[in-house]
Amino acid sequence: MSTKEGVRELAIYIHLPFCVRKCLYCDFNSGVYDREVQKSYVNKLCEEIDWTFEERRKKNPGKDIITSIFFGGGTPSVLEPELIKQILCKLKENVELCKLNTEKDLCKPHEKDELCKPEITIEVNPGTVEYLEPYEDPLVEDKEKNIENNIENNIENNIENKDKGIEYIEKTMDSAKDESKEDGKPQRKNKLEYYKAIGINRISIGMQSGSDEELKTLGRIHNYEDFLKTYQMAKEAGFENISVDVMYALPGQTFSSFEKTLRKTAELSPPHISAYSLIVEEGTPFDDMDLDLPGEETERKMYVSVGKILKEYGYHQYEISNYAKDGFECRHNSVYWKRGEYLGFGLSAASLTYDESGFSSSSRKNENAHSACETDGSADKTDGTTKRIVMNYRYTNTGSMEEYLKAETFEQLKAFRKEEEHLSMNDCMSEYAFLSLRMNRGISAAEFREFFGRDLEEVYGDVIRKNERWRLLTVSDERTVSLTAKGRNVANVVMADFLLDEEET
Ligand code: SF4
Repeated sequence: MSTKEGVRELAIYIHLPFCVRKCLYCDFNSGVYDREVQKSYVNKLCEEIDWTFEERRKKNPGKDIITSIFFGGGTPSVLEPELIKQILCKLKENVELCKLNTEKDLCKPHEKDELCKPEITIEVNPGTVEYLEPYEDPLVEDKEKNIENNIENNIENNIENKDKGIEYIEKTMDSAKDESKEDGKPQRKNKLEYYKAIGINRISIGMQSGSDEELKTLGRIHNYEDFLKTYQMAKEAGFENISVDVMYALPGQTFSSFEKTLRKTAELSPPHISAYSLIVEEGTPFDDMDLDLPGEETERKMYVSVGKILKEYGYHQYEISNYAKDGFECRHNSVYWKRGEYLGFGLSAASLTYDESGFSSSSRKNENAHSACETDGSADKTDGTTKRIVMNYRYTNTGSMEEYLKAETFEQLKAFRKEEEHLSMNDCMSEYAFLSLRMNRGISAAEFREFFGRDLEEVYGDVIRKNERWRLLTVSDERTVSLTAKGRNVANVVMADFLLDEEET
């Protein structure tokens, strides 16, 4: 999303598809790979970053600023942490990390001193953050090697970018050197401390359940005690912004067992909790098993209880499955839900951006008349409304490790993409509407007009009134449309109502 002339705010997703072993319910693109593959993958991912930004620089004038980075997986913490640093440095060589986020509502109170650093999250799983081998601080050991590689790898980049990357590495190394040894012994005891030193500021821990029996049923590698250790390590490493994932509707799970998990988690007081129901996906081992799953009524009761119980502990729900203490809403995911611009790197990673035929709020009637980058979020002089770039181009990388590693040029990597879509205005409006409904803030009529140059009532008036009559939607005085508590229980049905056919509107 462009917020001021020539500046494009970007969220970055990095997919790291490595796990210790496959959980029984998992259909994510992840697997067990040896270290050589892990290294080759990260090198390829760094090439993908270079290729992508080189193309962006050629095509679009203006400047990219990264507002959030999310290392997801898979289990990113399976990797040696210097590979995470390699990726961060590569991003830093190509694009600036934001210092000032222009979207004030995304700034977090606890970060006001550093208004606003990018939010940099890494997903970790219990049992994977300890060093498996005798510890050598790679930040210190590899300083010279990394700088050399960096220069070599980026011989094509311009001097300014190269300098930025090196400056970042050197700064990181220097702070690492100061802190890494005490009486000849390294102080960094685990990967979490390393993450903290390289600028990661948010940890998302996959706990899933507080019951060892349920964790075993899911095929997870950890028990509850392992989770507690990881949580403690994250606190000791200095992380304030920690999110914990829990799952419900698990095989054999009772309402009371889920309530225990939830209360145990809330008592630890992580500032953010995500709660997802188990979905048995086709092709997973669970799909072939005869599972004792809770009935629909129990599942609904579990969902409703999440909001109620977490409220007692000071959390508010801000999205269908996400709960936070004030100021700790996930900035990165909010970009997805607001249809902001994001780039995904790695296997199966999806990106949402705009293409040459993109449109802005005031070019809808003649979609091809403007290039998206001509519209920059500044006021439209003819009618006084604000123009916004509408993200209309989505693509998803190949899901095949073999293809990904084989690509030697950007063109080859693009040829392997598994999806590429140029979205119509109706697609964009539909997505905007149902993604906004996921969030408690709902669909704002003013923002809808700002984005699409259309009146919300004109496009969705009938749908809104129908769902309002059924008490599934509520409309505020400020003309914001959001799900009611009853509506949240059948959110998918309500959202489906907002899908527009091509002929509609
Ligand atoms: S740890 Fe996560 S990504 Fe890995 S197999 Fe389990 S559920 Fe899938």
